[in-house]
Amino acid sequence: MAASLSPGAAAAAAAAGSSVATSARFDGLEYAENYSRFLVIGGGAAGLSAASHLARCGVRDFKLLEARNRLGGRILTTQVGSAKVELGASWIHGVLGNPLYELAVSQRLVDVVQSPKPHNVAAVTEEGRRLPFSVLQETYEAYFWFFKRCEEYFLCKYQPPEGVRSVGQHIELEIGIYLQRFPPQQRHVRRLVFDYLLKRECCITGAYKTVSCFLM
Ligand SMILES: Cc1cc2nc3c(=O)[nH]c(=O)nc-3n(C[C@H](O)[C@H](O)[C@H](O)COP(=O)(O)OP(=O)(O)OC[C@H]3O[C@@H](n4cnc5c(N)ncnc54)[C@H](O)[C@@H]3O)c2cc1C
Repeated sequence: MAASLSPGAAAAAAAAGSSVATSARFDGLEYAENYSRFLVIGGGAAGLSAASHLARCGVRDFKLLEARNRLGGRILTTQVGSAKVELGASWIHGVLGNPLYELAVSQRLVDVVQSPKPHNVAAVTEEGRRLPFSVLQETYEAYFWFFKRCEEYFLCKYQPPEGVRSVGQHIELEIGIYLQRFPPQQRHVRRLVFDYLLKRECCITGAYKTVSCFLM
């Protein structure tokens, strides 16, 4: 697939190698014609941003390769009836210094909305039993601080405990210590909430498991 990213910027997105495979010539020149000084791999937000930076810096001699037949990566809007549905990312996290927010505002894509009341989050077990909101809130807060401590390892560059090398291992260590204070049934429901939060983290980061994210 070839897509034009910005005026003059050649963005050729194709399955790896397929642009060469479709060439009928095999005299070496097919490579020369296909030569670019820079290659951006992947047309998700990161790749598009890199390509956009190159174009803005006056670099024209680059290609962007995208394995799929569309740009956007994990950002994908689809139409369901008359509604637009986001299958991937939909929230802009953080406002200050966030280039995406700046872009959205400059394109008049966001309104500042004062929410009249706080959102209510409901969590339900497989058996259809709703968890008390206080349990949810408390578990969310604990999880939030576990992650803050992960950031501190990174920011302060201090050594994690023996055997803790990944974000997942750190979070599991903290969860284990935290759950010890509860009797078995209360421990179980909190563990379910933590499991959900860890899965959500994988969706956001794109990691298969949080143990594959290194701490330092
Ligand atoms: C369900 C879901 C909800 C999310 N919600 C939010 C949210 O609300 N807010 C938020 O900030 N983030 C959210 N995220 C995370 C956000 O979508 C990602 O962090 C972001 O889109 C990642 O962009 P990226 O360019 O790094 O990677 P990707 O979007 O994954 O793009 C990588 C691109 O590279 C291509 N590619 C990979 N390998 C090759 C190759 N060898 N050759 C050519 N092309 C290749 C892929 O096809 C893909 O198009 C969510 C993610 C998911 C899955």
